[in-house]
Amino acid sequence: MASLPQDERDEFFMLRALQLAEQTVGLASPNPQVGCVLVRDGNILGEGGHLYQNFDHAEIVALKQAAARGHSVEGATAYVTLEPCSHHGRTGPCADALINARVARVVVATSDPNPLVSGRGLQKMQAAGIEILVGVLQQRARDLNDPFAHFIRTRTPLVTLKSALSSDGKLAPSPATRLPNQPYWLTGPEARNEVHRLRHASDAILTGIGTVLADDPLLTDRSGLPRRRPLLRVVLDASLRIPLTSQILRSASADLLIFADTSAPDSKIKSLIDAGAQVEVIPQQNGRLSLPAVLASLGERGVLSLLLEGGCSVNGAFLQQNLVDKVVLFYSQQILGDQAVPFAEGIFSPSEIEQSLHRVTRASLGPDLRVEGYLHDPWA
Ligand SMILES: [Zn+2]
Repeated sequence: MASLPQDERDEFFMLRALQLAEQTVGLASPNPQVGCVLVRDGNILGEGGHLYQNFDHAEIVALKQAAARGHSVEGATAYVTLEPCSHHGRTGPCADALINARVARVVVATSDPNPLVSGRGLQKMQAAGIEILVGVLQQRARDLNDPFAHFIRTRTPLVTLKSALSSDGKLAPSPATRLPNQPYWLTGPEARNEVHRLRHASDAILTGIGTVLADDPLLTDRSGLPRRRPLLRVVLDASLRIPLTSQILRSASADLLIFADTSAPDSKIKSLIDAGAQVEVIPQQNGRLSLPAVLASLGERGVLSLLLEGGCSVNGAFLQQNLVDKVVLFYSQQILGDQAVPFAEGIFSPSEIEQSLHRVTRASLGPDLRVEGYLHDPWA
């Protein structure tokens, strides 16, 4: 280790800090995912990641671990995936804790995305004589906190549209050829596992009443991984057509939120609440539920990330209103033909969306192809 050049050593320990941050998926929101490693002479003195329920930020977790092991961290280097905070939130400022612990150097992957505090923690530590380096493995650290970066500036969730598509860009077989409530799978098990990983990394999942009526989905996180808050399942259902017998309602346990408009009958609202759902009545916009109102409401509930798993109508509405930030498409090899359900209302084909994506990545997943990219940069 000592023989490695400094920049390679920095990347090595930042990678460890990123691993610790990545282990907090589902456990840090509505705070960012952060990892910290304290190193001296190539030895890790203490390390940790931030878990919301434990209050302590990653830097404090690492400092406490070093102290518990009997290590002073004087003269050490702290590797942190996000700029240490300089403000009093639920805890004291981490910049002060690092200063008081007399670390000599702080290496940060990315500065804080909140324009109100960005750079303050770094300046404070620099003023105290600590050597600062910013930008080591920056992109990977940013990818991890896209939802936080988006939320902290807009107070609305990062919206990721996910769709499984046929190779000719269709969502589902034509309704005329399908049996009611009969699930069908376009993609293989690898892609379906990936969907559960996406659900696990999201605070909420949203679909339209059309999908509930056609597929009767559960929309649960079946990744098997721990999460602090249940995945909030959201249904857009203006006039409350949702059947009391639907799977999503029968499995409701303080994790189902239905958005309706003023046309929804009071008696149905009451029976849905009795069945364990929350119902929120929001205004209409051009004759449909106002999506900005939906996103604002989810933001108020501390939802940082929203996964859209809708049909043609939900996809079209969010895309046409430019409310989608990130797109994840899974293409199967099946061909469904011209009569099949299109990807999104008012959008000619998914390739139209793909042409607008930034930072596109393509990967094989078993027999399927995943195409992923951004419509808006959450950090821009
Ligand atoms: Zn902090």
